[in-house]
Amino acid sequence: MAVDRSRESPAQRALRKLGLRRPIDLALHLPLRYEDETRITALADTHDGDVVQIAATVVGSEIRPGPRRQLLVTVDDGTDRCLLRFFSFYPSHQKALAPGARIRVRGEVRGGFAGRQMLHPQFRPDTGELPTALTPVYPTTAGLPQSYLRKAVLAGLARADLSETLPAQVQHAHWSLRTALDFLHHPTPEVSLAALEDRSHPAWQRLKAEELLAQQLSQLTAKRERDQLRAPRLQAMAGAVHDGLLAALPFALTGAQQRVVAEITADLAKPQPMHRLLQGDVGSGKTVVAALAAAVCMDAGWQCALMAPTEILAEQHFRKLADWLEPLLAARGRGIAWLGGGQKKKEREAVLARIASGEAALVVGTHAVIQDKVQFQRLALAVIDEQHRFGVAQRLALRGKLARDGQEPHLLMMSATPIPRTLAMSYYADLDVSTIDELPPGRTPVVTRVVNEGRRDEVVARIGEQLREGRQVYWVCPLIEESEAVDLVNATATHAELSDALPGVLVGLLHARMAPAEKKAVMALFTEGLMGVLVSTTVIEVGVDVPNASLMVIEHAERFGLSQLHQLRGRVGRGAAASACVLLYATGDAPRLGETARARLKAMAETTDGFEIARRDLEIRGPGEFLGERQSGAPLLRFADLEEDAALLAWARELAPQMLDAHPDLAERHVHRWLGGKAEFLKA
Ligand code: ADP
Ligand code: MG
Repeated sequence: MAVDRSRESPAQRALRKLGLRRPIDLALHLPLRYEDETRITALADTHDGDVVQIAATVVGSEIRPGPRRQLLVTVDDGTDRCLLRFFSFYPSHQKALAPGARIRVRGEVRGGFAGRQMLHPQFRPDTGELPTALTPVYPTTAGLPQSYLRKAVLAGLARADLSETLPAQVQHAHWSLRTALDFLHHPTPEVSLAALEDRSHPAWQRLKAEELLAQQLSQLTAKRERDQLRAPRLQAMAGAVHDGLLAALPFALTGAQQRVVAEITADLAKPQPMHRLLQGDVGSGKTVVAALAAAVCMDAGWQCALMAPTEILAEQHFRKLADWLEPLLAARGRGIAWLGGGQKKKEREAVLARIASGEAALVVGTHAVIQDKVQFQRLALAVIDEQHRFGVAQRLALRGKLARDGQEPHLLMMSATPIPRTLAMSYYADLDVSTIDELPPGRTPVVTRVVNEGRRDEVVARIGEQLREGRQVYWVCPLIEESEAVDLVNATATHAELSDALPGVLVGLLHARMAPAEKKAVMALFTEGLMGVLVSTTVIEVGVDVPNASLMVIEHAERFGLSQLHQLRGRVGRGAAASACVLLYATGDAPRLGETARARLKAMAETTDGFEIARRDLEIRGPGEFLGERQSGAPLLRFADLEEDAALLAWARELAPQMLDAHPDLAERHVHRWLGGKAEFLKA
C-alpha cells in the first residue's frame, strides 16, 4: 500500500518512525522518567550539584563574543542570584530572557555561594501556576519535541480503547490498564520517584505483565503454527560435498563455527522447517557456515538458495562459493547458478532452466532469486544474508518457493548486527538463534580514532602512508537522508580531492546510482588490489571482504547510526595487518556535537565488540528504534526485562496457553493491542 508521506510534518514523521500510529500505541508510549516541576526551590537553599527549579527575574543579559559565543543571563529570585550560561542560542532565547522577564528555570546548580551557575538550563515564562503532577519525559527522537509528543500521548490516551483483555480471574483489584496508564502518564507528586523510575511501582508491574503476556501469546501462536508445517528432512551424509568442503578449506573452523554448524545441521534433519537466525559479528565467518549448511542440503539431493541484499555482496558470495563448491558439485553432475540484476534475457533463461531442472544445486543472487519466474525443482534451504535488510514480504516469498505437499524450505537468516540476548528472545515470535561469539584467530583489533574535520589534511597524509605500505583504503561519504543527489555531490568532491592529493594512485568512486555493471567493475579493481582508495557512499556497507584494506575513513561520522558505523568499520581488520578506522566529525554551526552523536562516537572509540556496540546502541536509542522502522512491529519488550521480571514472565508463560485455549478472542485482542496489526508478520 502506498502511503502519501509528502504532507507529513517532521513531527508526524518522527511519530511514525517511533511506531506511534494508533491511539493505543501513543497511550502505551510510557515516560522514561519524570521531572518534578511541582516545587520551587529558593536559590539560597541550593547546593552544588542539586537539580532544582527556581522562579526568578532576569536582571542582566549579555552576549559574550569570542570563538565560543555565549549568552550570559543573570537572574535573581529574591534570595540570591544565579548566572545562566548558554552556548547555543537563538534570537528567540534572548528575547525570552530579556531583563525584567519572570521565568522558571530548571537545571543543575553549579558552584556554591561564590557564584551560582546553571549550564544550558531549561526555562519557560513563569505563569505563576505550578503543575500538580510530575512532568513525564518520553523517549523521543530527532525532530519530535517533548511538548508535541506529550500532547500527542495525552490525546492518544483519551481516545484509546482500554477495555480489559485479561480474563476476569486474573484481573488486579486496583490497577486496571486504564488506571495504570492514567497514573503513569500523570503521577501525583507524593509518589516515590524511585519506585516510578526503577519501575517497581504496581502500575508499572501491571503494564509489564500485560506486555509479557502479549509476547508469550504471540510466540505460542507462532510456535503452534510452525509445528503444523512440514519441511524436507535433510540428513548429513558422510563423504560428499560437505566433507569435501571441510577438507578443502584453507583454515580450520573456530569452535564457535563448529557449534553453530552442529545446531543448524540438527535443525535440517527435522521434519519442521528451521527458522534460525545466525548472528555473528562482522568478520566472524558466517559465509562458510552457510556454505556447510548448503552442502548438507545438496548432499541430500535438494537445492539451496542464497540471497543477499546488494549486487556486490551477492556477487562476492557467488565467487567465494563457486571457488569452494564448484569442483565438488561438478564431480556430481550439478552446479551453482548466479541470478543478478543485469543479466541478458538469454542468459537469464538458461539459468532459469538450470534451476527448474535441479541441475543448479545452489542458486546465489539478489532479490532476483524470489521473482515468480524462478521455479526451483526442489528447494529445501534458503539462506538470507544481512537479513535485516530484507522485509517480511521477501522472507515470505522465499518460504513459498517449495510448492510441494504443503512443505516449506528451511530458513537460515544471517545478521552481523548482533541483537542483545533479551531482544533476541523476543525479536521474532518464534526464531531460534545461533551465535558465533569468536573471531577467527590472527585478527588484530581495529584502532579507532575520532577526529575533528579540521584535521582532514592529517588524515589524507595517513592515507598516503598506508598506500606506500601496499595497503588499501576505504573512504565513506556521509549519507544525507533522502537526498541521494547531495550524497553524490559530496562523494564526487571527495573523490576529486583525494585524486589530487594522491597523484599516481587510482582512486575509485562507488555510489548508489551507478549501474550494476559499473559498480562491479569498480569493486573488481579494488578487490584485485589495483585501486588504492575507494570513495563510496554507503553502498559498501555490508559484507564486502577485501583483507588488504587496512584503513577506513568515515566522513561526517556523526550522521551515521552506531550499528552502521560498526558494520563499516568491520570492512577493515580482516587481514593480519594492523588496521585503523578514522571517524571524521563536524559540528556545523553548533559549538559541539549533540549528546547522542557524541555517545555513538565514544562507543566506537571504546570498543570493537559487536555485542557491546549493540548494547550501547540499545541504550542510546531505546528498543523501539533499535531494529528500525521495518521491524518495529516485532514483539520487542519495551518495559519488561526477562531477567528482572522473571516472576511476571513465569505468570505470563503459565497463563498464555490457558488463555489461548479458553479465551481465544481475548488473546487476539490483547496481542493486537500490544503488537499492532503486524502480529501476523511475526511469523515470517
Ligand atoms: P562475515 O561473518 O562478516 O560474513 P566472512 O564469512 O566474510 O565474515 O568471513 C570473513 C573472513 O574470514 C573471510 O575471508 C573468511 O574466509 C575468513 N574466515 C572464516 N572463517 C575462518 C576461520 N575459521 N579461520 C580463518 N579465517 C576464516
Ligand atoms: Mg558476510
